[in-house]
Formats: sequence, C-alpha cells, structure tokens
Amino acid sequence: MMAHSKALLVLENFIGGKFVPCSSYIDSYNPSTGDVYYRVPDSGKEEVEAAVKAAKNAFPVWSSKSPLERSQILNKLADLIEHDLEAFAQAESKDQGKTITFARTVDIPRAVYNFRFFASSILHHTTECTEMATMGCVHYTSRAPVGVAGLISPWNLPLYLLTWKIAPAIACGNTVVAKPSEMTSVTAWMMCKLLEEAGVPHGVVNVVFGTGAKAGEALVCHPDVPLISFTGSTLTAQRIMEKSAPHCKRLSLELGGKNPAIVFDDADLTQCIPTTLRSSFANQGEICLCTSRIFVQRGIYSEFLKRFVAEAKKWKVGNPSDPTVNVGALISKEHLEKVRSYVKKAQAEGARVLCGEGVDSLALPTGNQKGYFMLPTVIAEVKDESCCMQEEIFGPVTCVVAFDTEEEVIERANSVKYGLAATVWSSNVGRVHRVAQRLQSGLVWTNCWLVRDLNLPFGGMKASGIGREGAKDSYEFFTEVKTITIKH
Ligand code: NAD
Repeated sequence: MMAHSKALLVLENFIGGKFVPCSSYIDSYNPSTGDVYYRVPDSGKEEVEAAVKAAKNAFPVWSSKSPLERSQILNKLADLIEHDLEAFAQAESKDQGKTITFARTVDIPRAVYNFRFFASSILHHTTECTEMATMGCVHYTSRAPVGVAGLISPWNLPLYLLTWKIAPAIACGNTVVAKPSEMTSVTAWMMCKLLEEAGVPHGVVNVVFGTGAKAGEALVCHPDVPLISFTGSTLTAQRIMEKSAPHCKRLSLELGGKNPAIVFDDADLTQCIPTTLRSSFANQGEICLCTSRIFVQRGIYSEFLKRFVAEAKKWKVGNPSDPTVNVGALISKEHLEKVRSYVKKAQAEGARVLCGEGVDSLALPTGNQKGYFMLPTVIAEVKDESCCMQEEIFGPVTCVVAFDTEEEVIERANSVKYGLAATVWSSNVGRVHRVAQRLQSGLVWTNCWLVRDLNLPFGGMKASGIGREGAKDSYEFFTEVKTITIKH
C-alpha cells in the first residue's frame, strides 16, 4: 500500500448521495500496461447494509414520482454523460483494455442511449383490461415498482451493461444498489459524480464497489433486496441462485455464450467475412455475443478460411489509446493465461492454429510490454467435443470447421450447453427462416451481427440465462403486477 504514489486515484462508494470512504481497498490494474490504475473499495456486508438502507429510505418518494418526472431526470443524466463522453471513453479504455475507438463509438454512446431509451419507453407502457359482462366485472392490471433492486455487472462492457440495468430499474420507480465488477469500476464512479446535477434524489442510485465474493454476495443475501439483475458467468449465476433461494428472489440472469456462426455456400462473403471478423474479435472477443464457432459449408470452406485468416492477420494489436489499433488488451493476466491455455489444448488435440497465438509474433510498443495482449487467433480442424468448441473462451480466439448439410449444422450448432446468440449467413430467405427457428439461441442474427433494437427481448436460453431484458421485458422484471377486479 505504501508503495503507491500519492497521485493514485482512490474510488469511494456512493451511498445516500454521498461519496463514502471504505476501510479497505484493492488494486485495479490498467491491462495495457500492467500498472495499478486506481484503488477500489473492498466493500462487504457493512457497506451493502448502508447502501440498502439508503435505497429503502429513498424508495417512497422516488416510486411516487410520475413516469414523466423520472423520464426527465434520466434524460438529463444521459445529456451529462454525453457531454463528458470523451473523458468516459478514455477512462473505460484505460480500465478495461478495450480500444479507445470501441469505447468512444460503442460503450459510452450506448450507456447514454440506455438512459434515453428507458426515459422514453417508460412513458408508453399500458396495462391490460378485460370485461366479464355476465359477472358484472371489469378486471385490470396495475404495475408498481418492486423496491430495492440489486444490480451486478461484469467487466467486459462496464458502463454499457451497468446502465442497461440502472436505467430501467429507476425508470420504473425502483431504487438501486449497484455493484460493478471490481476490475472495471471507474466509469460507474464517474457517473455517480453526475447524479446530483441530473436531479437523481439521494439514495435512488447507490454504488458499492468490491469483489463478488464479498460485496456481491452481501447484496444477493440481503433480505431487503427482493430482485437481482445479474450479468456475468454461468458459474457465478449458479451461486447467486443458491444464495438467493432462501429469500425467493426474483432473478434476471444474463450469462455466457458459445455462439455459432453458420456460413452457407450461398453467403455473400464480402459481407460475411468482415462481419465475422468483428463478431469474433471485437472488444478482444470479450463480448458475450462474440462468435467462437464458425461452421462453413464444405464447398466454400477453403476459400472462406483463406480469406478469413488473411484478414485476421491485418487486425492491429497494441496500445488501446492508438485510434488505428483494432485489438486492445485482455482484462487481466489470469484471463490472458486462461485464453492462451485453450489454444495450447487445441494444438495438443491435433487442431491447426492458422494465425495468432504461438504462430505469429506480436510486436508491442515500449510502454505496453507488460500489458495483457494477444493476437486474433483462428483454429481449424477442431473436434466438436473439444473444450475449445464447448466452453466459453471469452477472448480473441475463434474455431472454424466444415459442415455438409443444413440438418447436420443445426444439430452441431445446438450441441453445447449455451444458447445466447447465433449468426446465419445465406442468401436463401427460406433457409434463413428455417434455420433461425430451429437454433437454440435467444438471439439469431442473419446476414449481420450485433444489430440491436432495445425494444425487443435480449437474453439467452439453456446455460446462457434466465429471463429477458428489453423495453417490455425489463418493465415486467422491474415491476410487480397486480390484477384488480371491480364488480359494479
Ligand atoms: P463474473 O460472473 O465473474 O462476474 C460478474 C459480476 O458478478 C462481477 O461484478 C463480480 O464481482 C460479481 N460476482 C462474482 N461472484 C459473485 C457472487 N458470488 N455473488 C455475487 N456477485 C458475484 O463474470 P465476469 O468474468 O465479470 O464477466 C464475464 C462473463 O459475463 C462471461 O461469461 C460473459 O459471457 C458474461 N456476460 C454475459 C452477458 C449477457 O448479456 N448475456 C453480457 C456480458 C458478459
């Protein structure tokens, strides 16, 4: 602790509208240099208790505001974040290792849009009504916020995913206790600095920083937090389900994926190849929706592979703040080692590594020698049973395999425990519909990737999650419905 320079940034929890120091801290690293970037509170039960208390106190006033009043505050917050977009993007890139270009064009604009989107959608919900004339009755439903929402988010899209939870939760009239990943907390802390000016009353948004085991679990186990919205790994979700079971909590779980791309021989490769490169390697492959199994129909397999590898080799890896760089640093040393270990396992099993890790050399700028970098890696001839084809790697690694028939590829694409996102490439519209219907996947993109309409449900099947988020889905998750019958 003594070795840190005085200038080191130290984050504080945000509870009841105030920044509050914590009794202990942990280091958070800049993945592109390996240096400590800031210190993050190592919160536990005590801090979570204080945050839940503040959120409970704020609930009666916030929940009784009209949707329009809440909408105006959300819009103001969106404007303030947008005003500071560049500072947020710089901080996100430095904290997560992602390129400044990605942070500027994807992460922060989407965080802004999350607030704008729910500020608007909250104004347009209607409830149901039915008449039972023979009984002289009218039934209708009413919806009310649930209370204190616990929000837990991962490190890959820090502010983007945290605001995707905070925005609908508070738009619906809940108050929240949020816990970002201990590895990427800085933009959440920066957002807290804007809440007062946006008009968010004290205690409506509380942010407690710290590890999953301490702060996250304290939130999950807190009896006064009736719902948890979690995005992260399937393993952590299992633990959250166990820990919240005694309280019968309402859970929304957005988890991992092992997403297939299926390329039929009538696909337009001029569109498919650049998009599949992005779907495999964008954000260092650290997006739950990234493609990691590419099935290519045998007739075009060799051509696809040749062109795909040639293009993958052009992706520039290096200093994330260089706007010409395509691949930044992975989140941590441990994660880099884990991702690399998959490539080694594939080689040991007889697969061919066509480019990237262990094949090409990686030249890094002087200041980034200790960063956690890895080249985009393409592996071919991997068996479907291999861990590289079954487990989520969550790095810049993708496997390419050949298939013959539609029937066969559907079965192979579905033969993993996950079911988050799939991509289908074909110019045959009938085939596209048939295949999309049969894929076990919460999202299917055809001839595109990552095109989202926030109105529609987002989420996974099987081990990729429980529940959906989106305009209507988030509204339903963050409110309690009641059926009222009036007899006249
Ligand atoms: P993780 O599960 O390790 O951590 C996610 C969050 O949960 C962090 O804030 C962490 O501190 C917290 N946490 C950890 N243990 C906890 C516990 N016992 N109780 C409560 N909270 C706990 O996941 P990660 O490594 O941060 O993120 C990567 C994973 O997230 C990948 O599997 C990825 O696919 C998934 N992900 C899914 C989506 C989606 O929308 N489906 C989006 C992004 C990332």
